[in-house]
Amino acid sequence: MRIPTEPIGSIPRSPELVTAITTQASADTLQQLYADAITETLKEFEETGSPVITDGEQTKSSFATYPLEGLTNLTSEGMKINFEDGHSRQLPLLTGGPFRYGNYAQKYLAAAQKQTSLPVKQAIISASALSLIYPADGIEGYPQAEFMADLLNECEKDIRLCLEQGAYKVQMDFTEGRLSLKLDPSGGVLKHFISLNNQVFDRFTKEEQQKLGVHVCPGGDHDSTHSADIDYADFLPDLFELNVGNFYLQLASEPDRVKVLKVIKQYLKPGQKAFIGVIDVLNPTIETAEEVKDRILEAAAYISLDQLGTTDDCGFSPFCDDTSTTRETAFAKIAARIEGTRLAEEELFA
Ligand SMILES: [Zn+2]
Repeated sequence: MRIPTEPIGSIPRSPELVTAITTQASADTLQQLYADAITETLKEFEETGSPVITDGEQTKSSFATYPLEGLTNLTSEGMKINFEDGHSRQLPLLTGGPFRYGNYAQKYLAAAQKQTSLPVKQAIISASALSLIYPADGIEGYPQAEFMADLLNECEKDIRLCLEQGAYKVQMDFTEGRLSLKLDPSGGVLKHFISLNNQVFDRFTKEEQQKLGVHVCPGGDHDSTHSADIDYADFLPDLFELNVGNFYLQLASEPDRVKVLKVIKQYLKPGQKAFIGVIDVLNPTIETAEEVKDRILEAAAYISLDQLGTTDDCGFSPFCDDTSTTRETAFAKIAARIEGTRLAEEELFA
C-alpha cells in the first residue's frame, strides 16, 4: 500500500482465556488456550486484509509488565496509575538487583512468525516505563545508577532480539509520555523520559532506527484514559526528539484533530513518519471506511504523503483482563482502517 497502515498490538482475549487467566487455571489448560488464541488471532488478523499483523498480545500479561514475568525480586506495591473512571493499575516495585528481564518480546514474535507468512510487528515496553519500578528510597547495595545501566542494556536487548528475529517494525509503547505532563507539568520528567529512551535508540544505526517506532496515547483500559486532558501541543515537540523513524499517534479520539495535525506538521522531522490513529478504540461504534478515508484526507492536508501512515489509536486491550471491547468489534474496526486507507489512496494518488 502507498499509505502504510499498521496495528498497535493488542486484541481482546476471548472470554474463555480471560476466565482461565483470572481464575488461575492449571498450566496445561493455560498453555493450550494460549496456543489456540495465537492461531485464531493470526487467522482473524489475516482476514481483515491487514498487510502487517501482530499476535494480538494474547500471551502477554500486559503491554508494560511482560519483562517482569517470573521475576522474584518484586513486590506489588509500586506506582499507581489512575484512570478517569476511577480505576487504577499498579506497577510492581523492585526489591533487589541486578535487574534482568524475565522474558523478552522476541518470544512472542517467533511464535507468531511460525504461523503466518505476513510481516509481523512487535511491541516492546519503554525503558522509561520500567524505570518507575525502582523505589524512591533506593535499594541497599543496588544504587539507582546501576539499575538504570542494567535497564538500558535490557531494553536494548529486547529490541535487538526482535530485529534479529525479523520483526517488520519494533514499536516502543510510551503511554507514560503524555501522562508525565500530568504528574509534572514543568516537563522535567518528560525530558528525562525522552533522554532515557534516546539512550536506548542511540545504540542502533540510522538504518535500524527506521525500523523502530514509538506509540503514544492517553492510556486505554476499560474504555477509559489517564491523560487525555493533557494538551498534545505540549507533548509532541519533545516526542519528535526521539531518534526513531516511526510515530504511532492516537488521534481519532482527539476532540480537535486539526489542532493536533498543525502541531505534527510543525514538529515532525524529515525522515520521520507519522502513523495517525484513524480508529477510536474506546468507542464501541465501528467506523465506516468512508469515515476513515475522510480522517486521512484531513491529515493529508497537513502531513506530506511520504510521511503519512495510518494506525489504530491504541491497542484494543493492553491489559490481559480488559474485555470492554469484543474481538469481533476490534477486527471489524481494523478492517475499516484497511479499507478506508485504500479508499484514501485512490483519491490521494489519483
Ligand atoms: Zn496506547
